[in-house]
Amino acid sequence: MDKITIEKIRSEFPILNEKIYDKPLIYFDNGATTQKPQCVLDRIIYGYEHLNANIHRGVHFLSQRATEAHENARKTVGDFLGTDKREEIIFTRGTTEAINLVAFSFGEAFCNEGDEIVVSVMEHHSNIVPWQMLCERKKMTLRVIPMNEKGELDMDIYKSLLNERTRIVSVTHVSNVLGTINPVKQIIEIAHAQNIPVLIDGAQAVPHIAVDVKELDVDFYVFSGHKIYAPTGIGALYGKEKWLNAIPPYQGGGEMIATVRFEKTTYNELPFKFEAGTPDYIGSTALAEAVRYVQEIGIENIAAYEHELTVYATKRIQEIENVRIIGQADEKSAVVSFLVGEIHPYDIGMLLDRLGIAVRTGHHCAQPLIDSIGIPGTVRASFSLYNTKEEIDVFIEALKRVVMMLS
Ligand code: PLP
Repeated sequence: MDKITIEKIRSEFPILNEKIYDKPLIYFDNGATTQKPQCVLDRIIYGYEHLNANIHRGVHFLSQRATEAHENARKTVGDFLGTDKREEIIFTRGTTEAINLVAFSFGEAFCNEGDEIVVSVMEHHSNIVPWQMLCERKKMTLRVIPMNEKGELDMDIYKSLLNERTRIVSVTHVSNVLGTINPVKQIIEIAHAQNIPVLIDGAQAVPHIAVDVKELDVDFYVFSGHKIYAPTGIGALYGKEKWLNAIPPYQGGGEMIATVRFEKTTYNELPFKFEAGTPDYIGSTALAEAVRYVQEIGIENIAAYEHELTVYATKRIQEIENVRIIGQADEKSAVVSFLVGEIHPYDIGMLLDRLGIAVRTGHHCAQPLIDSIGIPGTVRASFSLYNTKEEIDVFIEALKRVVMMLS
């Protein structure tokens, strides 16, 4: 993308005008959450001003308008992920809730004592803990795919972990710490050869690379809206219809029922069976707006531009003496994690903040990964379509100053 396009994009994100300690904000914490363009902010206000009424149950005009907007949003998200079946899209609060839903409901239907679940060493806690809870509940075992020094999964060991006791494989598409883009298509093919379904955590993939659930033939795919320019509190689970029909509801309440009698309750059809309670229809419509925003720019254009930024940042960061980049996979997304000598990541993050630069430090909710590398954590700069090479230049100069102060 050229300079003019980037300037236009930047002008669409009001928060980029903020001053932090009197310095222009440089926001490199996009892996944690992204900023919101004006069209998404407007859509939230529009929702409350023009279509706020509880959905699905109402016969009145406003309720029907809100219902239509929510269901259109489902279609937009489905199209974006590559399914034309709207019942395969379940709105959730985000990635975490979506994984908990699958771990619980799939676990109830298909898992028994002695069974196994396969995850990888580079998972976010939200793709570890729900499976551990299932393992505890059902007396099962969690198996872990290790990685090599570059931060790529060991596919031979992965194959060797699968057996007749494996019930599901759940791995991240892109690591939030290393930036590694995992070979998910291959991971899915290998599991499917043994009739094992696969969940892919797309939290760090959907904002950055094209995803097509049908092409991947994935069984479950999850992501969070707030990482792709939408508000917090909304995200989605894609699930193959056959699986969603085969597993029980996750939560009980309004919306998810067909009939309720004290003797017996029957459940609603898909997707409503998994959406108990009043859905976040303001959030879903704002998510659809964010998706349209991304589609207008083009996810391929975003991917190419962010790749350029990542390559540039990776090159420039190596000017810093004693720098160690954590995660050097051949296929990488818009993340550069690093350490400098013995300096604690937290100290670097604190001082960069005083210079107006937002990076994340610590274990990034991936403690087992950080422990496996034997480091205290990392400093993570993660980029988005509104970042620039000029910002990276300012960041590098600031980092040099910070390192000098801390050495
Ligand atoms: N999975 C990955 C790879 C992530 O990076 C994150 C958040 O950083 C999550 C899951 C959890 O997302 P959320 O907190 O939005 O549910």
